[in-house]
Amino acid sequence: MQLMQQVGFYLIFFVLPGVAGARIAWTKGRNPLLWLVVNGLFPPTLLVTIFQGPARPVAGHYRQCPSCREYNKWRESVCKYCQSEFPN
Ligand SMILES: [Zn+2]
Repeated sequence: MQLMQQVGFYLIFFVLPGVAGARIAWTKGRNPLLWLVVNGLFPPTLLVTIFQGPARPVAGHYRQCPSCREYNKWRESVCKYCQSEFPN
């Protein structure tokens, strides 16, 4: 029982942030393996993963504005930075 509690502890505090971070990094065009390790070893860095911008446009997640080069959520049809419309 003691072992199960320890495994559960590591699962919740290290593996979960690692997997969540890897998933978020992947949707932002960043290296999921790198962020799996970083977020898994040091869970507070999950905040960095969440708040950093995307590294490149990712289909279904982020697109880059053709006029101002800023990244917008995929579902937006108008750039929130310069208000120009995205071609679809
Ligand atoms: Zn723009």
